[in-house]
Amino acid sequence: MRLLLVEDNQRLAGLIQQVVEKAGHKADVVHNRQAALHAFSSFEYALLVLDRGLPDGDGISLLRQLRKRGVKQPCLMLTARDALRDRVDGLDAGADDYLTKPFANEELVARINALLRRPVELFDERLQRGNVSIELKSRRIEVDGTTLELSTSEFAALECLLRCSGRCSRQRLEDGIYGMDVAVTPNALDVLMYRLRKQLTKAGASIRIRSVRGFGYVLEEL
Ligand code: CA
Repeated sequence: MRLLLVEDNQRLAGLIQQVVEKAGHKADVVHNRQAALHAFSSFEYALLVLDRGLPDGDGISLLRQLRKRGVKQPCLMLTARDALRDRVDGLDAGADDYLTKPFANEELVARINALLRRPVELFDERLQRGNVSIELKSRRIEVDGTTLELSTSEFAALECLLRCSGRCSRQRLEDGIYGMDVAVTPNALDVLMYRLRKQLTKAGASIRIRSVRGFGYVLEEL
């Protein structure tokens, strides 16, 4: 999934980006409020990771501003402070979870994955449609109990579709699969979806991917 990381400490931002990408997500990084607002109005993100102390203002007021604009995506707030008041303020402003620096990489990934699972199934570790399932923790795909090997972008596309209840706009898919700095040719997504569709058919999946003109892609059960 594609995340937005707002962190002014460039070294820490780079480290978090590496950890997040190793866990199979894409992370766009910005270093201040202004850039965060711009990114959020230009791209679709599945999650926001937000540092509290930013050079051009407080992360909490940025989150309030985003929530007012109707941004509903989950937010994990990072802070150097561990006071109860700070945690309460963050949650009041609309943060969904809170992590105090310094934190362990494993904990960061676990919390991000937990927040990303929320819209789909709160407690389940797996996404399923027909005879196709994705184990989120191990990032394993099975078709009828047999493991299916997919490329990173094919996996991201399928994960995106499953998370969006089987309906995804082109923009949402492109945002979920490619990073901000990657130039995507107009037919890259179609080529990718063609490959994914072939892989699923070959593996005997009971779902198929259909393209919807002017919208994007939908998953259908056969
Ligand atoms: Ca900071």
